[in-house]
Amino acid sequence: MPTDDAKQQVSRRQFLKFSGAAGAALGVGSMGLFGYQAGKDPSSYTGWKSFEGGDQTFDRARFETNSPTYEKVGDTSRIDARTEVVFSRMGYIFRSYKDETGIEGLPQHVQAYYKAHPEDLELDLYLVRELYALQREDDKKHGDAFILAQAWSDAMAAVQPPRISEPPEVADFPKTKGDRYHRGDPDSPYKMKSPQNTSKLIKKIAHQLGGTLVGIATLNPDWVYRYPTRGRGLDTDKPLEVPKHWQSAIVVGTPMSWDPMYANPNYGTSDDAYSIARIIGFRLAAFIRKLGYAARPHTPGFSYDVAVPPIMVDAGLGEQGRHGVVITPELGCNIRPTVVTTNLPLQPDKPIDFGVQSFCSTCKVCAEQCPSGAIPKGGKTVVRGYRRWQVHAAKCHNFWSSNLGNMGCRICVAVCPYTRKANWLHKTALQVTANDPTGVSHAALTKMQKLFYPGPNPPDYYIPSLGGKNASYREPPWWLRTEDFVEL
Ligand code: SF4
Ligand code: SF4
Repeated sequence: MPTDDAKQQVSRRQFLKFSGAAGAALGVGSMGLFGYQAGKDPSSYTGWKSFEGGDQTFDRARFETNSPTYEKVGDTSRIDARTEVVFSRMGYIFRSYKDETGIEGLPQHVQAYYKAHPEDLELDLYLVRELYALQREDDKKHGDAFILAQAWSDAMAAVQPPRISEPPEVADFPKTKGDRYHRGDPDSPYKMKSPQNTSKLIKKIAHQLGGTLVGIATLNPDWVYRYPTRGRGLDTDKPLEVPKHWQSAIVVGTPMSWDPMYANPNYGTSDDAYSIARIIGFRLAAFIRKLGYAARPHTPGFSYDVAVPPIMVDAGLGEQGRHGVVITPELGCNIRPTVVTTNLPLQPDKPIDFGVQSFCSTCKVCAEQCPSGAIPKGGKTVVRGYRRWQVHAAKCHNFWSSNLGNMGCRICVAVCPYTRKANWLHKTALQVTANDPTGVSHAALTKMQKLFYPGPNPPDYYIPSLGGKNASYREPPWWLRTEDFVEL
């Protein structure tokens, strides 16, 4: 029980917090118009500035010319890539060159090339006869200084999912032979200096790979599926034992492009963020394996062995909202995550509480806008031992399987007051709600949300044959208006 003094301190602290919050709320209301303008600023498109062309700033029109700045001075010919491109040419040396026959054993066009460029023959042979051996020798002595650089490079080369046709106890570990991307040694992983230090490294790498948000959690076995999903290389009828090496879960998220996302359901897509998240997962796993540790990516759309939202919560990325999606302070729920499970020793993050449970209990905007009625308007229920708002997946699935444009829905993501671009107005509103222990500002901000961002009548989201009008929450961006570019 808190003492009276402690109670007073708490209430004084709460009062101060809320005074600040209320003051900011007044500011929020009076500056709404400016905020609307700020929302159009490319700098507020958190995460992927390039989506708005914000980096292509040079005024090329001023420098346009009628002819390119390379010079044409005679007859031209096209490149013979078989011999003029060194990577192609070396293939002939590796496969067909023999000292006894020299270039006579090579195809005619390669012979012709080397006769015309004897210095290239000399260099190409020097490479295979001496340079590679010298490089291997020095790599043994000094190569460890570049382990991270090599891991980074190998990670960037990993554009395909790793093969996971074997059990996790085999498939997740680096292979010592025959696999270009998994050359770490599982019997002797590199000794990392400390879990804290490694977490800092992994987060930096995840950001470098294109992740907007990254967090780390100790993996709670409750979040591992009881049976494997299809396509994960495992017998779906055999219970999935939680592998011992799934100790930590690194979760990395990236947003969907903002303007199509607001124009859900017809113009939005999850695949823009899915594809980025997927490749981040492959690459992060490749990076970790290169250090000699086990790593398994769990990637969108369906390649998971784990439930991702609670892992995001454990990793401190955000809180799960009424609509079941995790709400983050930076991106709201406009985030598509990937998870890598690993035995790399890591320092986990802590969960955060920035007021979402309280906000969702009064807001209900998603439940009101959801055309299928999948999101509960009432309280939480107990699901597998945890209290939460439970979305009716079949209702949701039936709706988004029926609509046009890009199949899918995401209206609940678009309408959520937290899913707003990171301009000063929304950053201020976030501070207000996060620091308001009374919940007073939540109702006020929900009203503002409905005022500034009203949605269509929910049945209008349906296709015409189901009584709807193909409505979208927002107008599509200009570059997705088919009628302006295609003769219909
Ligand atoms: S995705 Fe659409 S149908 Fe599904 S819960 Fe969200 S708003 Fe409802
Ligand atoms: S729309 Fe409102 S109720 Fe729904 S998840 Fe967002 S904040 Fe919570």
